[in-house]
Amino acid sequence: MIEEIEKILREKRRFLITTHVDPDGDAIGSVFAMYFFIKQLGLFPEVYLRDKVPYRYGFLPQPHRVETELEPLNYDAIFVLDCGDLKRVGEKHEKLKDHDLIVNIDHHETNEMFGKINYVDVQASSTAEIVYRIFRFFDVPLSQEIAINLYTGIFTDTGSFRFQNTTDEAFFICGHLVRNGVSPRFVAEMVYENHPKERFLLLSEALKTLEVTEGGKVGIVSLTTDMFQRTNSSYEHSDGFAEYIREMGGIKVAILIRELDKGKYKVSMRSKDDIDVGRICHNFGGGGHRNAAGCILEGTLEEVKGIVKKAVSEEL
Ligand code: 5GP
Ligand code: MN
Repeated sequence: MIEEIEKILREKRRFLITTHVDPDGDAIGSVFAMYFFIKQLGLFPEVYLRDKVPYRYGFLPQPHRVETELEPLNYDAIFVLDCGDLKRVGEKHEKLKDHDLIVNIDHHETNEMFGKINYVDVQASSTAEIVYRIFRFFDVPLSQEIAINLYTGIFTDTGSFRFQNTTDEAFFICGHLVRNGVSPRFVAEMVYENHPKERFLLLSEALKTLEVTEGGKVGIVSLTTDMFQRTNSSYEHSDGFAEYIREMGGIKVAILIRELDKGKYKVSMRSKDDIDVGRICHNFGGGGHRNAAGCILEGTLEEVKGIVKKAVSEEL
C-alpha cells in the first residue's frame, strides 16, 4: 500500500488534501502534515476544508490558503484523510465522485473503502501515525511544521495517551517527533488549556441536563441551539464534552447530543472497555471507533434521546 502511495507522490504533481467536517486534531494534523510534506517534495498541494480550523488548532503551522471550493478536476490525486465515509467531506463530496484517483488514508473500523487506493489500518492510533509511516518511506527530514502537526494528531486522537489506541508505536513515533523539536508542554497547553470563557458557560448548560441511567452506566447531556445562543458560543466550544461525562466512575457509555438544525441532532458517544459505540452509530448511518463514534439523528430532542437510550441499553 505504501509503495502505491509513494508512486503517486513521485509521479503526480497537483494534489488536493481533505478530511471530514468538524475536523478534530488528527484530521487537521494529518492534512497539514501532508500539505507540508508534499510541498517539501517540490510539488503542488492544496487543502480543502468544509469548516474553518477550530480555534484550538489555530497554533499549528498551516497553509496560507485553505480552499473552500472543491474543483477536483484541477488535481492529479485527491488525498482524503481520517475520513471513514466520503460523505463526511461535506455537502460538496458529490463532486469528488468523478475523480479517478482518490487516496483514502484512515484508521476507522467503519471505513467504506471509497478510494481507488485505500490504506486503512484500524490498528493505527491515528491517521497521523499512518501518514508518518508514509513519510518515513522517503529519505527526507521531518520539518518542524510536519513534526508538530503529526504529534498533535497522535496526541489528541489517543486522548493524551489515555485511550485504548495508545500503543508502543504511538509513543515511539511521538518520541521521534519530540526529538525533532516538538514541545509536548506547548502542544498540551495550546490544545487543552487555551479555551475561551464561552466554553465553560456552555459546559455549565450541558451539565444541567445531565441524566445518569442504567444504574450509573450511561450518562447523557444535551445542547440546544438556544443554549449556544445564550452563551454566545458555537459548536466547536463543545468539543470534548462527551469525554467529561465518561470521566465519571462506573460510566460505560457517555453521550452528548447537540442540535444542528431544528429537528436534526448530532449524537457523539464515548464508551469504556469493549462496549462498541462504533457499531451503534454505524447502524444509525454514522460511524467511528469502538470507543468513540457519532451519527446524526432526526426528530425532537426527546425522540432522539429515546432512540439513543434504547440502542445503548440493548448494547449493554
Ligand atoms: P465526534 O463524536 O467527536 O464527532 O466523533 C467521534 C468519532 O466518530 C470520530 O472518529 C469521528 O470521525 C467519528 N464520527 C463522528 N460522526 C460520524 C459520522 O456521522 N459518520 C462517520 N462515519 N463517522 C463519524
Ligand atoms: Mn482519527
